[in-house]
Amino acid sequence: MADNISDLVLEGNAAARLLQHIFVADITLAKIRCAACDCTNGIGSLPLYAAPMGAVMKCADCENVLMRAVETPHGLWLEMTGARHLKFHTDRHAPSVYRAKEFREHADAG
Ligand SMILES: [Zn+2]
Repeated sequence: MADNISDLVLEGNAAARLLQHIFVADITLAKIRCAACDCTNGIGSLPLYAAPMGAVMKCADCENVLMRAVETPHGLWLEMTGARHLKFHTDRHAPSVYRAKEFREHADAG
């Protein structure tokens, strides 16, 4: 446990390794929990609606919008307010990247 909470606070760039670890995963194998009905489904089993304003993935149980992706001239956007979380397989787990000390060492090295 850290002696001081400020030891746990790092700049956002230190999260790059963690986020790369998460987003490189095969997203179709991840599970997503619906914020509306609390059910969990595999991303690969969700219905996809390819609408002109972007791709929309809905909950297989209640049809709540879980994810919305759209590419604009300003960038690629992913909105997930309809989901509680994504869960990835634990066989990809790399616990050391989740500790502030490890983040700091990688940030200092880069
Ligand atoms: Zn739902």
